[in-house]
Amino acid sequence: MTISRRSFVLGAGTTLAVLAGTPRLVLPWRRRYALVIRGGTVFDGLGGPGVEADVAIENGRIAALGRKLRDEGAIEIDARGMAVAPGFIDIHSHGDGSLWEDPRAESLVRQGVTTIVVGQDGSSRAPTGASSAADGDEEGHRFQNFGALWQSLQSLRPAVNVASMVGLGSIRGIVIGNVNRPATADEIARMTQLVEQALADGACGASSGLEYTPGAFATRDELIALCKPLAARRLAYATHMRNEDDHVLEAVDESIAVASGANCPLQISHLKTEGPRNWGKLDEIFAHIHRARGGLDAEKTAESHKESPRASKHGSSRAARSRAASKRVPEGEATPGIDVAFDRYPYIAYQTGLSNLFPVWSRAGSIEDFLKRLDDPATAEKIREETVAKVALIGGWDNVEISGVANYADAAADGKRLGSFAKLNRMEPYSMAVGLLQRGKGNVGMVGFAMSEQNLDRILAHPRGMVCSDGGAYATDGPTHKGHPHPRGLGSFPRVLGRYVRERKALTLADAIHKMSAFPASRIGLADRGRLAPEMAADVVVFDPSTVDDKATYENPFQYPVGIKAVVVNGVVALRENQRSTERSGEGLPVRT
Ligand SMILES: [Zn+2]
Repeated sequence: MTISRRSFVLGAGTTLAVLAGTPRLVLPWRRRYALVIRGGTVFDGLGGPGVEADVAIENGRIAALGRKLRDEGAIEIDARGMAVAPGFIDIHSHGDGSLWEDPRAESLVRQGVTTIVVGQDGSSRAPTGASSAADGDEEGHRFQNFGALWQSLQSLRPAVNVASMVGLGSIRGIVIGNVNRPATADEIARMTQLVEQALADGACGASSGLEYTPGAFATRDELIALCKPLAARRLAYATHMRNEDDHVLEAVDESIAVASGANCPLQISHLKTEGPRNWGKLDEIFAHIHRARGGLDAEKTAESHKESPRASKHGSSRAARSRAASKRVPEGEATPGIDVAFDRYPYIAYQTGLSNLFPVWSRAGSIEDFLKRLDDPATAEKIREETVAKVALIGGWDNVEISGVANYADAAADGKRLGSFAKLNRMEPYSMAVGLLQRGKGNVGMVGFAMSEQNLDRILAHPRGMVCSDGGAYATDGPTHKGHPHPRGLGSFPRVLGRYVRERKALTLADAIHKMSAFPASRIGLADRGRLAPEMAADVVVFDPSTVDDKATYENPFQYPVGIKAVVVNGVVALRENQRSTERSGEGLPVRT
């Protein structure tokens, strides 16, 4: 791919020369665009097949789209042999966690992500309920209201666009505090008012995190009341459900009941079935979603999976069937059910602290309290029992990989599966885990391989499935190059295109792009993004479908993907051929519905 910058004088001279030679074949004035992406296979984001076309960009918008556009760009990007798609929208992102530290958002731009949807899992940066006169950044970059958040983003000028949900856990924290009791009628009224205000100020939905505090203290009725303001705007209730393993079906039903009660769309965040004994529940989950939607398209995909063994060996035919099953419902068409969709990151492992394998009650108080309880005869045996049961749920000690050991003497354990590593050292895995925690003063990370690869294929391929990262923003240099993050923050979108589209053929390229662009855009009420069409905001990614892939691993997450050739954010080239522009062109995206 080459990028050339032609002088205005040369362009004008050429136009005059052509005019003189063959006047009837040219326009009276050859318009020059700011940028033209030439000769790529253009995917519109709606799921249609790619077509060869040029994309012209002017004033941050797509100005023209068609075959062999004659007018030139001040910057030209040769995209022959490449896919040209709407910039990716990460429907469930924690990228705002480091945005004020490092607004370059390197790991996002390098994946082709141009918009992140934050305020997830019940927690958002606004509102805070503070009555102070603070109108800009507050400590920890939390904001009194959404207006202040948009203002701060405007002066920060991050490299990607930011839309945000309002977190129902944050709202509960403001009105009730971190207290485990039902809300009173008066408190529900005040919380509902805060949700209403956040939506009026441009929040793109409401999120809950029912495995976290204080979100977990909310009852179903409280959630229904707080979601009612979403109905008129057709914005979604996004939920990190109350459970994702043994009680995942009950949790799906609760989510459906909340959205039905409030009559709003439902977005199940990072849908998964944790633990081998729960993997078989995916058919039922899909069936419940199918029923909730009033019997629309969902079940065909679940059935198609059980067809002939030949078909399941050849992913391409599965992709074809899932395409056939994905007759999309036009936006706004009335259905008897509710509008349900979900998202998922393309990894079968979650990442957390090793201490999270241990029961919640044993971790109350300080780290020292926790480490003491591990040895205390009054508690040690009960902790062991519950921990071993939790490990059995995710399929045994070899599904626990040690990642990020603070204690230097234990460095050999890093990246090892706990079961095998304990055996090698003639130790019992539980004692090994306790020893690592005690020597590391509680500071030991783990990766839990608890999810099914086949289920992941099906969740990504399902017509109601979208792609998310659930990750933060990182860089291989600067302040966000620290810790041991899950690779999803650096690899999710290229990984879907490389591993799940090209290699596993779980879904087609056009479908994958749809799940990263127009589908999530419509979910959060972003009318002018997520599609490549005239008048749309010029967020574009150019990538090589034959090489695009993630590089970040659990062992070494700080590696950027390959095959992402160029990224354009609001008409400005942010990345080309591995070179980042110093100009940042992202903005806050208040949603007006
Ligand atoms: Zn979550």
